[in-house]
Amino acid sequence: MSSKDPCGGSEGLQRFHEPVIPGGYGQGMALPLPSTLSPSKVSSFTDCALAFRFSAIDRLPEPPSPAATKGTLVHAALEKLFCLPPTQRTVATALTCLDTAVESMRDHPDLVGLELDDEGLASLLDDAEQLVRRYFELEDPAHIEPIGLELSLEVTLGSLRLRGIIDRLELDADGNLVVTDYKTGRAPNADYERTKLGGVQFYSFLCERLLGVRPAKVQLLYLSEPVALVASPTEQSTRALERKVSAVWAAIERACEREDFRPKPSKLCAWCAFQQYCPAYGGDPSDAPRDMRRSPTNLGEVGDRSDAPSDPTSSLLPT
Ligand code: SF4
Repeated sequence: MSSKDPCGGSEGLQRFHEPVIPGGYGQGMALPLPSTLSPSKVSSFTDCALAFRFSAIDRLPEPPSPAATKGTLVHAALEKLFCLPPTQRTVATALTCLDTAVESMRDHPDLVGLELDDEGLASLLDDAEQLVRRYFELEDPAHIEPIGLELSLEVTLGSLRLRGIIDRLELDADGNLVVTDYKTGRAPNADYERTKLGGVQFYSFLCERLLGVRPAKVQLLYLSEPVALVASPTEQSTRALERKVSAVWAAIERACEREDFRPKPSKLCAWCAFQQYCPAYGGDPSDAPRDMRRSPTNLGEVGDRSDAPSDPTSSLLPT
């Protein structure tokens, strides 16, 4: 990571008020719009338009990160746990589910690519185990009735397709829908809390549009603390979310039209894989290698789950 301070005051930021045109597209050629918008893409664009462009439009690859891989393992373990009958959802079986997830990921690039030695791997797996254990401090999975796990939802809003993958959708004791999202990073501070809940409100919106029912509760389970952030969606919060998503989409359309994606240095730069091409760190966007772009045929959709570790833009946020 560069030792330059990316948040060095308005003077340092002045130079970034000019449009940045990474290589691969000529001046005056409108950029292709992303085909869909997900919670992580929304937050990626608002966090830093240039990182969004590198990821969602240029589709530059990123190296795997231990935090993202750990998140994948924990999500997989909890998904497997909820496939078991309620009485079998114990800590012991959850750890067995984690072992199964680790085994199935042994040769996966997201694990192999970390190039961990035995000690590093043991540390990562130990962290994952602690997260699974702490999950049980938040709730008793035997009392939960999931009706969807890793549920992929998609709705159309005007010209825009919204997509998201819900970690868990369940019915509470009164038959109301509850949306749950697991987080394997640190819980946000109070200022950032509403932003993070906005991601889950996105899922609430998708549910309401697709199922015709607004969830009674959306919750983020931060396993490392452990702590739960909970909100009850309302007509007002749903409309606010819809307005925000529409505004972000309009801003993305404008940015593509003008080829104008500017860097926005912040603490998140520490997790950004594009620093070497970023003017805020002395890089040149036109150096971004064209031949490294991910092929659309093997991409899948990135960034559909707010905690999706494989999403390059979501990796800007500690998972
Ligand atoms: S290093 Fe920071 S400013 Fe530059 S693209 Fe990444 S997130 Fe944006």
